[in-house]
Amino acid sequence: MIPFNVPPVTGKELAYIEDVIHKGKLCGDGEYTKKCHAWFEKNIPAKKVLLTTSCTHALEMTAFLLDIKAGDEVIMPSYTFVSTANAFAIRGAKIIFVDIDPTTMNIDHSKIERAITKKTKAIIPVHYAGVSCDMDAINTLADKRDIAVIEDAAQSFMSGYKGKNSGSLGKFGCYSFHETKNISCGEGGLLIINDEKYIEQAEIIREKGTNRSRFLRGVVDKYTWVNKGSSYLPSELNAAYLFAQLENSEIIQKKRIYAWNLYMEGLKDLENSGYIMLPHIPENVTHNAHMFYVKTKDIEERCALMNYLKIKGIGSAFHYIPLHNSSQGKKCGSFLGTDKWTTRESERLLRLPLWYGITPDAILEVVDSVISFYKINNENDFHKKAYYMGNS
Ligand SMILES: *Cc1c(COP(=O)(O)O)cnc(C)c1O
Repeated sequence: MIPFNVPPVTGKELAYIEDVIHKGKLCGDGEYTKKCHAWFEKNIPAKKVLLTTSCTHALEMTAFLLDIKAGDEVIMPSYTFVSTANAFAIRGAKIIFVDIDPTTMNIDHSKIERAITKKTKAIIPVHYAGVSCDMDAINTLADKRDIAVIEDAAQSFMSGYKGKNSGSLGKFGCYSFHETKNISCGEGGLLIINDEKYIEQAEIIREKGTNRSRFLRGVVDKYTWVNKGSSYLPSELNAAYLFAQLENSEIIQKKRIYAWNLYMEGLKDLENSGYIMLPHIPENVTHNAHMFYVKTKDIEERCALMNYLKIKGIGSAFHYIPLHNSSQGKKCGSFLGTDKWTTRESERLLRLPLWYGITPDAILEVVDSVISFYKINNENDFHKKAYYMGNS
């Protein structure tokens, strides 16, 4: 059996959690949260980083900070996780979905400008599979009009764009440490703030609308209710687990990249023969091997491949149902122009097992299985070749 995902455990997680229990300080913003913050401050050139309970909550905080209200509009791809939209929809914003670029599955930045109106408050690029969007193009569009850019960098732990960290390129960036992500603590996230002016409010919103952060730093001698807020800080138990992962993140990333490259090499011939399509990494982008996917000819072929792998004991998974096709997505958003790629490409995509600790042998087994699926089907002439993008 080769499962689709196994959350990483690198060794020290349990010891650090025990340490937290032993010291008897379980609530947020203690020793391990500080250690995590210090790690990120060292590794990401941000004005401020704040651990959160999830990436969903980090995104909600940005909507809070920007005071998103009913009638506002936000622009994002439809091919994303529900949280990207929910964070703004719960404040009454209208979601404007823009088509993706099929080569990366990221928002097609050339289609953003048409989606901008006087009501546009934010653009939320999602770095799919840890492959950065063209942030220069997106920032240029936004800066001209004073629109905020919020990077949904949930999958982009330590990915890069032109030598800079994903998540440090917009006004805000949001990471996820859900168990399916490269670095995890079960449920967790990070808000990256790249504009000083939001730091104090962010600390207040995260701590139930109080100035507890200032109190902990000794700036004020008691803490009180100073603004609206919520509770977005994780427990020290989560921070302890996360810190163990951060300490070992280099090895986690290395192993994932090794696995990703094995897939790429193993499946290249199948792509060159026109049966499948493989991920494309644009120039100037450093990805983090968050995901390895293949694109089949169409949805039927994807289901057949998925079933074939399942019979061989290999877990695989498709991904997002485009939000504009969902019942809630129809209520709170609309798709700009024609959906040329979003639905079609989402139906072709199948993710293969990729996790810390997956062995090279396991990868080769998956590769062989994918190849044998196409061999068998080709012999029986069931399947035409997957079309190339250019001639479709
Ligand atoms: C995982 C993910 C999220 C949600 O992250 P949580 O930490 O589970 O809230 C949001 N956006 C994208 C693109 C994701 O992949």
